[in-house]
Amino acid sequence: MNKRIAVLTGGLLVVMVSLGAEKKKPILGYTDTPKLPSGWCVHDIDRPQPPVVTPAGQIGQPPSDAIVLFDGTDASAWEGTVQNNPKKKKYNPEGEMRWKVENGYLECTPTGDIKTKQKFGDCQLHIEWQTANPPHGDSQHRGNSGIFLQDRYETQVLDNYNNPTYADGMAGSVYGVKPPLVNACKKPGEWQVYDIIFQAPRFDGDKLISPAYVTVFFNGVLVQFNEPLLGTSTHRKVPVYESHGKGALRLQDHNNDTRFRNIWIRELDLTKDDTKPE
Ligand code: MG
Repeated sequence: MNKRIAVLTGGLLVVMVSLGAEKKKPILGYTDTPKLPSGWCVHDIDRPQPPVVTPAGQIGQPPSDAIVLFDGTDASAWEGTVQNNPKKKKYNPEGEMRWKVENGYLECTPTGDIKTKQKFGDCQLHIEWQTANPPHGDSQHRGNSGIFLQDRYETQVLDNYNNPTYADGMAGSVYGVKPPLVNACKKPGEWQVYDIIFQAPRFDGDKLISPAYVTVFFNGVLVQFNEPLLGTSTHRKVPVYESHGKGALRLQDHNNDTRFRNIWIRELDLTKDDTKPE
């Protein structure tokens, strides 16, 4: 084939392909397919489009629909825990937030737990934490804090780098119930990252309809997968549920100077997709 014929043939092909593309409308979905258990057809054209969320340029930073709970300087989303007994060391009748904000982090002081003013249900939480370097204390007394979803359900925070303790109290554990799948703890002094997906329990009056479930990534490593919770976290007892609505995110004061930064949350409704088509 000489050059001229090749160019002509190529041009014809381009014309044919572009004509074909103009004629053919893209298939965006179907209405004649069998139904899924959800009630939607397979590839249903009417199934609602998920909303657009703009991811952050750097992974770990808040995406467009996140509520930023601590950006390094502003701790106004937080309040202290009310303690009305003047004889107690952590006496705090107004519930003031008394943790330290400095150098881009929030540091636990021995003044009681802090919690968000806003309450949450199902959610995705990103939180970074750091324990003291050099470390001090052993077992449960080394960098202990905790992340309590809905003010009740603790994902343990602990310096577990060469620090043996009971397995269901390790960093990344569902405290008192389920050890992490692996120990992904970095050295003390390094920033550690939790990404937590939490499905709140469902109640009908006082009756539990569905337990809470938690999935936890610890420094990017899966340590809990959709783990069903037994109830409100507790020490040396089997947890039980008590009926409740949305709850604050609470950070524990365990008398260790653990630090937190880059805290953001996305509100979710993890049962929404079960909604049947109208
Ligand atoms: Mg704890």
